[in-house]
Amino acid sequence: MAITETVRSDARSDDEARVLELCEKLLADVPPRGADPVEFLGRQFDLGLAWVHFPEGNGGLGLSPKLQKLVNETLARAGAPRAGGLNPIGHGMGAPTIVTHGSDAQKQRYLRPLFTNEEIWCQLFSEPGAGSDVAGLSSRAVRDGDEWVVNGQKVWTTLAHVSRFGMLVARTDPDAPKHKGMTYFVVDMQAPGVEVRPLYQITGEAEFNEVYFTDVRIPDAERLGDVGEGWRVSLTTLMNERVSIGGQIPPRGAGFVGELMKVYATTGPHDLATRERVMRLWTRAEVLRLTNIRASQNRSHGTPGPEGSIGKLAMAELHKDISECALDLLGAEGMLFPTGYPMERPQTTALWSSTPQAFLRSRANSIEGGTTEIMKNILGERVLGLPGDIRTDKDRPWIEVPRS
Ligand SMILES: Cc1cc2nc3c(=O)[nH]c(=O)nc-3n(C[C@H](O)[C@H](O)[C@H](O)COP(=O)(O)OP(=O)(O)OC[C@H]3O[C@@H](n4cnc5c(N)ncnc54)[C@H](O)[C@@H]3O)c2cc1C
Repeated sequence: MAITETVRSDARSDDEARVLELCEKLLADVPPRGADPVEFLGRQFDLGLAWVHFPEGNGGLGLSPKLQKLVNETLARAGAPRAGGLNPIGHGMGAPTIVTHGSDAQKQRYLRPLFTNEEIWCQLFSEPGAGSDVAGLSSRAVRDGDEWVVNGQKVWTTLAHVSRFGMLVARTDPDAPKHKGMTYFVVDMQAPGVEVRPLYQITGEAEFNEVYFTDVRIPDAERLGDVGEGWRVSLTTLMNERVSIGGQIPPRGAGFVGELMKVYATTGPHDLATRERVMRLWTRAEVLRLTNIRASQNRSHGTPGPEGSIGKLAMAELHKDISECALDLLGAEGMLFPTGYPMERPQTTALWSSTPQAFLRSRANSIEGGTTEIMKNILGERVLGLPGDIRTDKDRPWIEVPRS
C-alpha cells in the first residue's frame, strides 16, 4: 500500500474514532430516551455532530460528509430524537445554503435554531409564471438605503404557514439577462407585508401556500451572496433539494416499498403476474437504495453535483408506481379515503396514513423539487454531455423577454 493511502486510511479511522467518542459524550450529557428534543439537538449541534462536514462552531467538525451516516446510525440506535422531520426544507436546503454563502453573523444566528427545529424554514422560489424556469421569476427587490423593498408573489411554498424564515430569490436587475439579475435573501416570514394563504392538494391537506409580498423590507445584511449572484446561490439550494428528496437511504425493504410489502401480505391470494410486479418494484427500490449509498459515499464535499438528479428522478417514478400497485392490491377498498377530506394545514410534509393517501400524495413527487422532465434535461446535458435545450432568452435582458 502506498504511504499516502496508509496516511489517508489512518486519518479516516482517527476521524471515525473522534466522531464515535463525541456521540458517546452526547448520549452521556443528554440521555436520549425521553429527552427534550430541543435540548438534545442543541447539544448535538454544539458538539459538531449536526452536520460533521460543516466548520467547527457551525454545527460541524470540518470532516468528510460520509461520517454523518455513522453519527445518525449511532444516535438512532440509542433512541435519540430525529433531527430533520419537522423542518425538511431547513435541514435539506436552508442549512447547506447558509453555510456555503452566509456571513459569519448569519451562520451564528440561523444554523442552531434551524437544526433544533425551533425555527422552521421555507423555500420561496416558484412563482405563477416561473416554476421549471425559476430563473425567469418576476418578484422584485428594490434597494432603499440599507434595506431592500420586496413586492411580488410566490406559489407552492411548502410549510410557509409554520415558517419563521424563508429563502427568497427576487429580481434586482431587470435589465440583465435572467440568470444574472437575481439576488438571494433570508426573509422574516413574520415581517409586515408578508401574507401566507393556503393551497389545498388532492389529499385534502394544504402543505403548501401562496405567499404575497407587499412592500416587505429586508435589511441588506440578510442578503445571501452578492447582488446579482442569486442564481449561483440558488443552485446550492436546488442541488441539495434533489438529494434531500431523492437521496434517502432507508433500511433494505423499508420505506415506501416496505408499505407495499405489508399491503401484499394482508391481501390476496395473488396470481403470479402480481407477484412479479411486486418483485420488480422491490428490486427497483433496492437498486435506488444502493445507488444512493454509492452516491453518498462518493461525495467528498457537502453540495452534491448534477448527478443528484438520478435519485430524485428514480424516487419520483418509483413512488408513483409503488403506490399505484398498492392501491390495485386493495381492490375496491382502494377507492375509500379513510381519513376523509379534512382540509388541514399540517405541521410537516408528505405524511401519509393510508394507501389511498400515499397514492394521491405521490403524484406530486415528479413535480416538487423539479419535474421528472427537468431532471432528465439536467442528466442529459450536465452528466451525459448531450446537446442543450434550445434557450432563446438566455442572453436577452430579462425585461425584454415576452411573458404572459
Ligand atoms: C408538493 C409540492 C411542493 C412544492 N414546494 C415548493 C416549495 O416549497 N418552494 C418552491 O419554490 N416551489 C415548490 N414547488 C413548486 C415546484 O418546484 C414546481 O411546481 C416545479 O418546479 C414545476 O414548475 P411549474 O409547476 O411552474 O410547472 P411548469 O414549469 O409550468 O411545467 C409544466 C410542465 O412542462 C414541463 N416542462 C417545463 N419546462 C420544460 C423543459 N424545458 N423541457 C421539458 N419539459 C418541460 C414540466 O416538466 C411540466 O410537466 C412545489 C411543488 C409541489 C407539487
